[in-house]
Amino acid sequence: MQGYAVRKKIAWFNPDSPEPYKISRTRIDNFLKCRRCFWLEERFGIKKPDSYPLTLNLAVDALLKKEFDIHRAKQVPHPLMRAYGIDAVPFKHAELDSWRHNFTGVRYLHPDTNLLVFGAVDDVWMAPHGELFVVDYKATSKADTPALEGSLGAQYKRQMEVYQWLLGKNGFTVSKTGYFVYANGKKDTEAFDGKLEFEITVLPCKGDIRWIEPTLVEIKACLSSDVISPKGTECEYCPYREAAGEALMRQESKGIKTKSNRKKIVKKHEEEPTTKKLF
Ligand code: SF4
Repeated sequence: MQGYAVRKKIAWFNPDSPEPYKISRTRIDNFLKCRRCFWLEERFGIKKPDSYPLTLNLAVDALLKKEFDIHRAKQVPHPLMRAYGIDAVPFKHAELDSWRHNFTGVRYLHPDTNLLVFGAVDDVWMAPHGELFVVDYKATSKADTPALEGSLGAQYKRQMEVYQWLLGKNGFTVSKTGYFVYANGKKDTEAFDGKLEFEITVLPCKGDIRWIEPTLVEIKACLSSDVISPKGTECEYCPYREAAGEALMRQESKGIKTKSNRKKIVKKHEEEPTTKKLF
């Protein structure tokens, strides 16, 4: 049986260590969603169970990267850029592969907090005057044209803003406008025929990076604190855990023969055999 996931101790935050502490943009988002689970993971390595990898989304990402790389090599705009009136070409840079890699990404050591912030971009485009646009690929399948709505839209926007901030801190001129290249899987085709068709939409997004540095300061305070952090309000796990825990306690206190009770009763019976029927 699988246990709960624990991060290696070496990767936990140690308040006494002078070493920079690595923090990905995903973990910044974890902090914004719920400080308590963030603190439990960063200080004690206790992770929430991983969700299954979105392999179809990863396949779409990989194919889009390949496609944009063809135009990057030739330094010409992708037809989508022309279709959406975006005056840019895919950006060519010696570090692009490392910026795109999950374990390296674009990095910046924030001096006020000693946090080494990093995030892997999907793509970067460049305007003729050298300004950069952060680009993120997304895959979905919905009847309507994709839009940046709700808590997921807000999360995508924060993701874009962290990349914009990181590239800016690395000395690049970065546009406030970034783009989501959205691949929307069509469900209204006549038949599957072993292939999924997509409609591609480019969604512009205006970023605002002003929240990032104050948040890093809050993150550092949370990491350094020994006080249990408050829990988030929008998560379903806590009410579930509490309800499950309470139900089990009630059952135990009623003396109902739960698995653990059964074990205790069997053990007692082995030590002090009686003729009484056990269950
Ligand atoms: S609300 Fe509870 S379960 Fe959900 S993330 Fe926070 S501490 Fe974890």
